[in-house]
Amino acid sequence: MNLIIKGGYVYDPINKVNGEKMDIYIKDGKIVEELPEHKAKVIDASGMVVMPGGVDLHSHIAGSKINLGRLLRPEDHRKDPVPRTRVTRAGVGYSCPSTYIAGYRYAQMGYTTVMEPAMPPLGARHVHEELNDTPIVDKSAYPLFGNNYFVLKYVREGDLEMLKAFIAWLMRATRGYAIKIVNPGGVESWKWGKNVDGLDDTVEGFDVTPRQIITSLARANEELGLPHTIHLHCNNLGVPGNYQTTLETMRAVEDVKPKEGRENTLHIVHCQFNALAGDSWATLRSGAPEIAKYVNSHRHVTLDLGQVIFTDTTTMTGDGPWQFRLYNLTGNKWVNSDVEMEAGAGVVPYTFRKKNPVNAIQWAIGLELALLIYDPWRVYMTTDHPNGGPFTFYPKVIAWLMSRKARTDTMLEIHRAAMRKTTLADIYREYDFYEIAITTRAAPAKVLGLGEKGHLGPGADGDVAIYDINPTEWRPSMYREVEKAFSRAKYTIKGGEIVVVDGEVVSTPLGKTYWVDVEIPEDLEGELMKDLEEGFRNYYTISLSNYPVEDAYLPVQRRVEVVGWR
Ligand SMILES: [Zn+2]
Repeated sequence: MNLIIKGGYVYDPINKVNGEKMDIYIKDGKIVEELPEHKAKVIDASGMVVMPGGVDLHSHIAGSKINLGRLLRPEDHRKDPVPRTRVTRAGVGYSCPSTYIAGYRYAQMGYTTVMEPAMPPLGARHVHEELNDTPIVDKSAYPLFGNNYFVLKYVREGDLEMLKAFIAWLMRATRGYAIKIVNPGGVESWKWGKNVDGLDDTVEGFDVTPRQIITSLARANEELGLPHTIHLHCNNLGVPGNYQTTLETMRAVEDVKPKEGRENTLHIVHCQFNALAGDSWATLRSGAPEIAKYVNSHRHVTLDLGQVIFTDTTTMTGDGPWQFRLYNLTGNKWVNSDVEMEAGAGVVPYTFRKKNPVNAIQWAIGLELALLIYDPWRVYMTTDHPNGGPFTFYPKVIAWLMSRKARTDTMLEIHRAAMRKTTLADIYREYDFYEIAITTRAAPAKVLGLGEKGHLGPGADGDVAIYDINPTEWRPSMYREVEKAFSRAKYTIKGGEIVVVDGEVVSTPLGKTYWVDVEIPEDLEGELMKDLEEGFRNYYTISLSNYPVEDAYLPVQRRVEVVGWR
C-alpha cells in the first residue's frame, strides 16, 4: 500500500525539519521523495504533529528476567487485565506486560522500534521466542558481556584480539546487537556473595578490575566498529555517592578511540540510578549537575534517563547484588537468578512514593539530567522499563520535559526534599516538539547506528507517528493535552502499514529483529573455537554445539554486517 500523509507539522530532526508543514510519502514500506496522489491512500494530518516512529533503546520487554517478574507478580497482572479485540490478543499489562500487550502498547504510543537491553546468552532462544511474540515493533537484544567467563579470561590475559573474536562470535551465536555490561565484575563476585565497590576493586577469582573490563570492551567495540557503543550499567548502582563512580567511569574511557564516523564510545544506561550524591540515604542529594557538567564538556558519552514515575512497579536488573540490597531495604519479595558462566539477575517489586524523600529526589534527578544536559542528541528519554516505571508513562515524562508547570504541579505534591536536594526548581528550560523528536526517536536511532530509523528522509523505513495536537496553538501550560496526545497516537504507521488508528491497534504485523554479524578471521576463529570447546566441556551445562541460536528463531530478521577486521 502507498501512503501520503498530508499537511501535518513535521518534526524530523535528522533532516533538520522543525515543524514545517509538509507531506510524507511512503511506497513499499519505505519513505520516498514523491508519489502521485491517485496511486496512494491519503491521510489528512493537518493540524497534527508528524514524527518518525519512536525508538526505545532500553526497555526490558523479553527474556528470562521479565519472565521472572511475570511469575513473581500475579497482583501486578490483576491490576491491568487486557481483553482481546477483533485484531489483538488478550493479556495483562502494567509493569510486567505480556509480550503481545507490550507490542500493542508501544505502537499505541507511536513507537515502532524497541530494544531489549539485557539478554543472558544462555537464554537467547527464550529472548527471541518472546520477541517473536511481541508484535508490530522492530527490535533487537543486547547480550550481557560484563561478567562473562570468557570476557574476564581474555581481559585478564590482556588478549584484545581474542576478546574481539569472542564478541563477534557471541553476537552471532545469540543473534545479538550490542555489548551490554551490567555492574562489571560485581555480578561475578556475587556468585560468592560479594560485590565490587568501585572501578579498581578486584573481581573475585579473576584478578581483573571493573576498569579493565570496561575499557577492554569499549576498545574492542570501537575496533570492531559495532553499530552501537558499549551499553553500560555502571558499578555501585543505587548507592548514595555513586555519581563519583559514574564520573570515574566516563573518564576511564576518555582515551578510547571511537570508530570512524562516530564521536561517542560509551552509553550509560538509566543514569538517574547512578547520579546520587551524599553519603547515606539521610544525606542523599542530586549528583546530576556534576554529571551534566561532565557530559556538556565531553563528546564521548551518551546516556538515558531511567526516569522515576510515582507508581507501583517491578525492578529487574542483571545486577544481582543490587537487587539483594533493594530486597533488604524494602523487605519485599525477591527472586535471584544465576546464569552459570555468564550473568545473573534479580527482581524485586517496588513502589515509588511521592512522600518518600529518596523517591522524590530520584524523580527530580532524572529530569535534571534531561534538562541540564544541553544536547538532546546525547540524552534519551527512558524509564528503564519497568525499573523507574512502566514505559506506558512516557507521555507523562514528555509533559514534564515540555512544561515547567507540569513539573511544578508535581513538585507541590511530593516530598520537599526534591526542592531542597536538587536543582530542579531552578530550571526553566522546556523541551519543544523538535527536542522531543530528538530524544525519543532521532537520537536513539542515531546512537544505535540504525540508519533507516528515526527519520523521514527517502530510504528510511515507513515508520511514522501522528499525534493529534496542534503545535502552533499548544502552550506549556496545556501539558495534559500533550500527555493525552502522546498516549494515543492518532495514527501509527509501521513499515508503510497503518497499525494504529485513534489509539486503537488495527493491524499486528511481525516486526524484524536486528542482529550484528562480524566476520572473524579464520585463524583467530580456529583458536577461539578450541578455547570455547575446552571451556564448554569443562564448565558449561550444555555443549557448545547446542548453544548458538538457529535462524528458525528469527523468522523476520535484519542482519547487520560489520567488517571487524580490515
Ligand atoms: Zn535496564
